[in-house]
Amino acid sequence: MRPGKLVYQEFGERCPSCGLIHCTCSPPAPPPTPAQQTARLLLERKGRGGKTVTLIQGLVHTENEFKTLTQKVKQHCGSGGAYKEGTIEIQGDHRDRLAIYLQSLGYRIRKVGG
Ligand SMILES: [Zn+2]
Repeated sequence: MRPGKLVYQEFGERCPSCGLIHCTCSPPAPPPTPAQQTARLLLERKGRGGKTVTLIQGLVHTENEFKTLTQKVKQHCGSGGAYKEGTIEIQGDHRDRLAIYLQSLGYRIRKVGG
């Protein structure tokens, strides 16, 4: 009688880059500096009321960094906002103000849409 096929069970987090538990990526690249990142500024109108929000997308940060940045941006604009899944959302049209502010933090800026 042959022994049952061995089942290898693996535990651990999958690498977010290559998707493998045993990561095959080369050593992790250092996080991009602001100068290596381009913030996309978009306007979005929500719902029928047409409430305008400014979205900041395209940035690479950890969750905590994003939350800190969201706080700073909200304070700078004096407006409400939220962070969700890689996008910072600020109430109102603050693209010009945000472009200047984010540039002062070192980011490159791209305004999208009109
Ligand atoms: Zn990997």
